[in-house]
Amino acid sequence: MKHSRRNMSGDTTGYVCPRDGTNLVPPSASERSAYIRNGIHHCDTCSGMLLNADAAASSFCSEKLQEMHEGFVEEGTPDDIDCPFCESQMKVRSFSFRRLDGSLTEPIEIDGCPSCSSFWLDADELHRLSPPSNGSSDAKVEANALAVVLEILLQLPVVFV
Ligand SMILES: [Zn+2]
Ligand SMILES: [Zn+2]
Repeated sequence: MKHSRRNMSGDTTGYVCPRDGTNLVPPSASERSAYIRNGIHHCDTCSGMLLNADAAASSFCSEKLQEMHEGFVEEGTPDDIDCPFCESQMKVRSFSFRRLDGSLTEPIEIDGCPSCSSFWLDADELHRLSPPSNGSSDAKVEANALAVVLEILLQLPVVFV
């Protein structure tokens, strides 16, 4: 049964976290430039990130997300979360990114929407590619660090694995 997951209360985007249902913070309400440039809605509860090509301020990011989107139209394993933007069932795929030295990062799983160009990244997946945090347990510092990791990844060629 489909029901609207949009939250219409005034000061939010109307989008909710597909994992825990809390309101996502829109890029425009963020002070982090990486979030604004890349159109990242983020969850303060689980530190997950929602990306959407149309929401990205940088055309580079937008084109990158469109390229990633192609990988979800035909391929990918249906996942049990719905796209916060259009409510289609999302699919999950493994990605690696090619570093400048030609080596590949460890694969991470990214949920993508087969209908619109939206992506969901669990914080755990980004953590696997992050440098170890120096013991900081501050959620805001951590979210910032993950946004930086994600921004670096978006600069690298993507490889479906
Ligand atoms: Zn969440
Ligand atoms: Zn969608």
